[in-house]
Amino acid sequence: MADTFDVVIIGGGPGGYNCAIRAGQLGLKTACVESRSTLGGTCLNVGCIPSKALLHASELLETANSHMAELGIKAKGVELDLPQMMQAKEETVDGLTKGIAFLFKKNKVKHITGRGRIAGKGKVEVIDDEGKKSELTTKHIVIATGSEVTPLPGVEIDEKRIVSSTGALSLGKVPKSMVVIGAGVIGLELGSVWRRLGAEVKVVEFLPRILPGSDGELAKQATRIFKKQGFEFHLGTKVTKVEKLKSGLKLTMEPAAGGDAITMETDVVLVAIGRRPVTSDIGLEDVGVKLDARGFIETDHWKTAADNVWAIGDCTTGPMLAHKAEEEAVACAESIAGLPGHVNYDVIPGVVYTSPEIAWVGKTEEELKAAKIPYKKGAFPFAANSRGRANHQTDGFIKVLAHATNDEILGVHMMGAQVSEMIGEAALAMEFRAASEDIARTCHAHPTLSEALRQAAMGVEGWTMQM
Ligand code: FAD
Ligand code: NAD
Repeated sequence: MADTFDVVIIGGGPGGYNCAIRAGQLGLKTACVESRSTLGGTCLNVGCIPSKALLHASELLETANSHMAELGIKAKGVELDLPQMMQAKEETVDGLTKGIAFLFKKNKVKHITGRGRIAGKGKVEVIDDEGKKSELTTKHIVIATGSEVTPLPGVEIDEKRIVSSTGALSLGKVPKSMVVIGAGVIGLELGSVWRRLGAEVKVVEFLPRILPGSDGELAKQATRIFKKQGFEFHLGTKVTKVEKLKSGLKLTMEPAAGGDAITMETDVVLVAIGRRPVTSDIGLEDVGVKLDARGFIETDHWKTAADNVWAIGDCTTGPMLAHKAEEEAVACAESIAGLPGHVNYDVIPGVVYTSPEIAWVGKTEEELKAAKIPYKKGAFPFAANSRGRANHQTDGFIKVLAHATNDEILGVHMMGAQVSEMIGEAALAMEFRAASEDIARTCHAHPTLSEALRQAAMGVEGWTMQM
């Protein structure tokens, strides 16, 4: 006799686990099928969390070795203990993944380990590690199968010398040199980790700029700062081949616009050219779920083209971010329960956890210009922010973009220390459809880095006053 549920979710990442917990809270009989032995998906196991653990630890090491002396602290004998750094990261991952299992129990969600596949209307087949099959019957199916690394033709990932982000989170020793293919979020974050730990890092990017999609002014200043830190950028360049030598690797590259090939040798190559949705071999075609031209599952308010089959997170359209998956997860569970699920896709922040951090929400200047939306702009540098000066954290700036006639905030772009925490204030303001004047007239504690946001908002009407 098959187990019967209200909702069966395939995938236990931020999309799947949040959907399962919310469905459980709403009293729906829920199961979550996950093929990994642990819950948490890419984010907790090989993504957001382990990368942030290494970013934090490596930044402390660099601060101790390079920046504390200017503050009058002489640190002697500071050295890297890579196995301990990796163990601390693993302990964090272990604790958090177990935390999800606990939340499942608390909210009466059944956790099933195995590969899930839609086996017809209202049916999910599960194959466990030993190949044993079982079948679940359900009113609703939610696909939350996430994403995987996009491969680069001509470059075979072995996760030892030619690594994806997964291998780059667990290298056994610091390479002398590393070439990162792709100047996107992963390339800059994990490139920063290994540069701080001692590798010489070169970044090869197909486009003429780093961080495509982010505000151009922000990306330009960031490039300057990263170069000063020691990154070497080869922009407008594509890698056509990576060959394994006896010791080391040989890359062949050519200008993206065409031209003569050049070669470069390195110890480790990190392939970080994007991620692609996981949609194959889960029975989508059998029930009529439709994919778009890029392979993402098409949805209308998280409903696919198939009856009672829903999709959320990285496997569907939109930014591939854990918090976007989480928003969709909650909205999807609430919609299944007959509640009005809602996601505001205009207010999804993006953060790059480099040093300085980069964060944004809403439209870039380029997007506003392309859409012919009239806007005003206020900006404020951390070099003029008293807390930034006191902390010796003066890199970066904040920029507020507001509608030229009604002053509604349309976009906020930040680079600086702790902006990952400050972007929430901008997101909240935009969620309430605040005007830039609302931030400009909100009392911010002094001295704080967040005063730079207020000063940038004041700048929209030209009354910035701090030095
Ligand atoms: P996933 O987290 O990919 O989870 C999908 C799960 O489904 C996986 O566990 C997979 O094993 C399982 N699965 C797939 N097929 C099946 C099947 N047939 N049966 C059973 N289970 C299946 N985002 C941020 O917002 N902030 C960050 O700082 C950040 N850092 C990142 C760093 C790295 C190195 C990487 C790679 C990604 C990072 N991301 C970050 C992106 C973030 O991890 C994803 O956006 C997020 O995990 C998407 O959640 P999801 O639930 O849609 O998919
Ligand atoms: P990305 O899309 O951020 O960047 C990929 C980069 O590779 C782009 O700049 C692209 O132009 C470049 N590229 C593509 N093909 C190339 C080629 N052949 N040669 C050279 N360059 C090439 O992708 P990513 O950095 O791999 O990250 C994947 C996803 O994971 C992203 O969607 C991101 O949202 C998510 N992620 C988020 C965070 C975060 O929120 N802090 C951190 C890591 C990953």
